[in-house]
Amino acid sequence: MTSIWWIKRDLRLDDNAALGAASADGPVVPVFVVDPIFLKHSGIPRLQFLFGTLRELDARMGGALVIRVGDPATEIAAVAQAVGAKTVFAHRDFVPYGQSRDIKVAASLQSIGVHFVGADSPYVVDPGTIRKDDGTPVRVFTPFFKRWQQVSWNSSPSYAPQWSNTTSLGVALPEIATTHAVLPGVGQGAARERWNEWSSHGLEEYKEARNMPGVDGTSMMSPYLRFGVVHPRQLITDLPGHSGADVFRSEIAWREFYADVLFHRPDSMWKNLQTKMDILPVDTDAAAQQRFAAWCEARTGYPIVDAGMRQMLAIGWMHNRVRMIVASFLVKDLHVPWQWGARFFMKQLVDGDIASNNHGWQWTAGTGTDASPYFRVFNPFGQSAKFDPTGDYLRYWIPEISDLDNEHIHAPWTLGLLAPTNYPAPLVDHAVEREEALARYKAVSGK
Ligand SMILES: Cc1cc2nc3c(=O)[nH]c(=O)nc-3n(C[C@H](O)[C@H](O)[C@H](O)COP(=O)(O)OP(=O)(O)OC[C@H]3O[C@@H](n4cnc5c(N)ncnc54)[C@H](O)[C@@H]3O)c2cc1C
Repeated sequence: MTSIWWIKRDLRLDDNAALGAASADGPVVPVFVVDPIFLKHSGIPRLQFLFGTLRELDARMGGALVIRVGDPATEIAAVAQAVGAKTVFAHRDFVPYGQSRDIKVAASLQSIGVHFVGADSPYVVDPGTIRKDDGTPVRVFTPFFKRWQQVSWNSSPSYAPQWSNTTSLGVALPEIATTHAVLPGVGQGAARERWNEWSSHGLEEYKEARNMPGVDGTSMMSPYLRFGVVHPRQLITDLPGHSGADVFRSEIAWREFYADVLFHRPDSMWKNLQTKMDILPVDTDAAAQQRFAAWCEARTGYPIVDAGMRQMLAIGWMHNRVRMIVASFLVKDLHVPWQWGARFFMKQLVDGDIASNNHGWQWTAGTGTDASPYFRVFNPFGQSAKFDPTGDYLRYWIPEISDLDNEHIHAPWTLGLLAPTNYPAPLVDHAVEREEALARYKAVSGK
């Protein structure tokens, strides 16, 4: 019996329980639906990565991929009817939009007598699984991580899909101008190559090197994890027994923790997890909008902030340490709502993931779970000098200041009249804005 594998955030052929289950049923029609809502919220780098990955996947399936554009509830049902499938297999989604989309697709299939079977998910441990002994959600990372490590899981048993050739049912992928470099390459082969290459040298030093944006200190697996080109199981199976590997495993668990938090509190997607923070004053007037535009366009005059934003605008990825710095700068130096930054990130980042992104922002803003204490305001030049001491990251992304010495490159304005004229002066005075942020947060926290 022909069945459908509805591809969502699982763009891979191996260790994929949904594909495995479809393969056991008989010939498989692989379908991907380009959802106009995804198109609307995605910037060019993300679309490039997705479409490139789909093309690579299609080649691996001998050209069997059926691409549809439109509402998945309509499109999946139409393909099921056209090929006479009785079952649609897909991984289970846990983010609010994905959950409601799955419900709609299942209902639309049910109305034509087709079963919808959910198998697997983009996580090692499904959100909602880990709970305290009293059954309530775990709201703090460390106890979550302890329990997460105790949950057993298995890779999918092997399978050999027999592809059904029904591509006449699909359309060609939309063409997009390739103006951005795609990092580090699309598809399962590129993901595996990057992982093998990086983990052979990077994992051992990961604990320290992961904070240094100027070195190749992190795996860059996030775009692949975002689209399921790689499943996190595949990365944490067979990790060596050293501290670098332990930290890496815990970072994978942070991704799962944030998915779990969002699962229990879907309202925290765009609202403060800690509702007591709702009264924190934020700036949204015309001046704030101008400052926000300068931040988006990498014109703040703070090199580490502008370098991070340029990195994201150019390649759709930003180093984690720099994500924290630019986010702190937006909410604590410019006093702009975290939601503005989160929305901008979601559009630009190839790895844009609503749970990791919005809870990463909430962590920085002190409104989320495991919140950094309100008095922690990242000092942009202190962070820059500490984590990019030789200025390699700054020099790469901001050639205008590349001639400066290692001391002044973090704060070019300290050169006075000798500061480069083609790089902007600081948008705000960090020392002043830090005090302003502390006063605002202190008033809310009452301490
Ligand atoms: C403001 C802000 C926004 C963020 N937005 C996103 C986002 O949209 N998508 C996203 O995947 N990550 C996001 N992160 C988390 C983190 O910055 C990225 O996962 C990481 O930079 C990806 O690079 P990497 O794959 O080289 O990471 P590595 O250091 O190699 O880590 C391996 C994997 O662990 C996970 N991970 C690592 N750090 C975190 C973290 N702090 N939170 C959650 N998962 C983590 C990721 O899946 C990552 O690919 C955000 C962090 C902040 C502070």
